[in-house]
Amino acid sequence: MAWDYAPAPESRDIVSIQREYGLFIDGQFQPAADGAKFATVNPATEEPLAVVADAGITDVDRAVRAARAALDRVWRRMPGRERAKYLYRIARILQERAREFAVLESLDNGKPIRESRDVDVPLAAAHFFYHAGWADKLEYAGFGQAPRPIGVAGQIIPWNFPLLMAAWKLAPALAAGNTCVLKPAATTPLSALLLAEVCRQADLPSGVVNVITGEGDTGAKLVTHPGIDKIAFTGSTEVGKEIRRAVAGTPKRLTLELGGKAANVVFADAPLDQAVEGIVNGIFFNQGHVCCAGSRLLVQESAADLVVDRLKRRIDTLRLGDPLDKNTDIGAINSAQQLDKIRTLSAAGEADGGVRWSPQCRLPERGYWFPPTVFTGVSQSHRIAREEIFGPVLSVLTFRTPEEAITKANNTPYGLSAGVWTEKGSRILWMAQRLRSGVVWANTYNRFDPASPFGGYRESGFGREGGRHGLEAYLDV
Ligand code: NAP
Ligand code: MG
Repeated sequence: MAWDYAPAPESRDIVSIQREYGLFIDGQFQPAADGAKFATVNPATEEPLAVVADAGITDVDRAVRAARAALDRVWRRMPGRERAKYLYRIARILQERAREFAVLESLDNGKPIRESRDVDVPLAAAHFFYHAGWADKLEYAGFGQAPRPIGVAGQIIPWNFPLLMAAWKLAPALAAGNTCVLKPAATTPLSALLLAEVCRQADLPSGVVNVITGEGDTGAKLVTHPGIDKIAFTGSTEVGKEIRRAVAGTPKRLTLELGGKAANVVFADAPLDQAVEGIVNGIFFNQGHVCCAGSRLLVQESAADLVVDRLKRRIDTLRLGDPLDKNTDIGAINSAQQLDKIRTLSAAGEADGGVRWSPQCRLPERGYWFPPTVFTGVSQSHRIAREEIFGPVLSVLTFRTPEEAITKANNTPYGLSAGVWTEKGSRILWMAQRLRSGVVWANTYNRFDPASPFGGYRESGFGREGGRHGLEAYLDV
């Protein structure tokens, strides 16, 4: 008998969305100098949520100047223990307003409320708490006796974890004494603007954090602005390369957190039910819009049929639909453009000879949706085994020996993350030494902690975020 769940929607009354939002510059919300605007929609319904200002060169310049003035006037001179108080305050307010942030994030992004409520918002607060603790201890972080801030940081973030990426960028920068100009993605600007309001509520001195909304060209203007000392970017490898070219030959510091095509490697001796949960979490968490998603399942041949069978049974129980419903596992795809990309690559998966499977599931009529999808019979040359899909699509490959697993796992231009599932501790260590990726999870997947550095190799970028290592990116050492 199939079980049906009654709808359990979270109320959206907790959040009041304004019809229009300005740019947050020097502590004030203000329209773009030329009055330009664009709309952000709810991807689950295609309903417009709000209109936000589209920052042009004049606005970028104003924001950078405000950040420079705040740096010189107040922030870099303030003792670390005082800066820490602001970070603590922001963390506490994030916790107090957690439901509001979770509902807003799910509305603007399409992710299930369960994830925004239990992952994005608590982790964002944790990042501020963690870095508040560093602000007065920078001399003991191993970067010399008196490490100085770099200066004004331009920070560009993607749409997959809008609030969390803002926290990853702002918290270490502020702890280290830098001031910031943050550009959220065009499809998900609202939680960063609410965070700007939180900065005001925390009495953060004006100009220390500035939020400018806009599209890619706003980001490009921020990158090339001569008043910027450091660029921190999370997004696609393609744009990352462009930014690297734009910054080359200038004294600007750069960190890039780009795409990935992670291998999640399951050995036959692994606890298979646990591994199946990890595979599901690895690729279907956040609709697969995760740079470190375990999008290539490498399963040992002798266990492959069993694992794929159990995996399909598990996927059959996932619930796709209203992101605000507390029972929803899979929400909406963030944009029509991203949905197109997922469809194109899935079609290529079939054309290349992969066998496509999705559970029976009814997609809502409005909005952007894609069912959880598994491809078996995938070989390393297939596009779906090489290119980042950034959607709920898993490619299954097999291997026989640990050496073959390593060869296949490393056969990618990326190097962000990997997973290993086995009951043997020695094998975990053997694998971890050979997997060329910034993060290796063992018998788990997609775990994050502010104390743990995150970042990639090769086409996944360089620089680390989080932990002591992440501070280095914001200190002149
Ligand atoms: P993206 O184009 O790289 O966007 C990331 C951020 O950079 C957004 O704020 C974007 O603005 C901005 N941007 C775009 N062009 C820029 C430029 N020339 N200079 C400076 N900033 C620029 O990524 P996306 O369009 O969101 O997604 C495309 C692909 O990137 C995805 O399919 C996925 O493969 C990958 N991706 C990776 C991550 C990750 O965490 N590693 C995250 C998201 C996407 P607008 O979006 O406002 O135009
Ligand atoms: Mg949106």
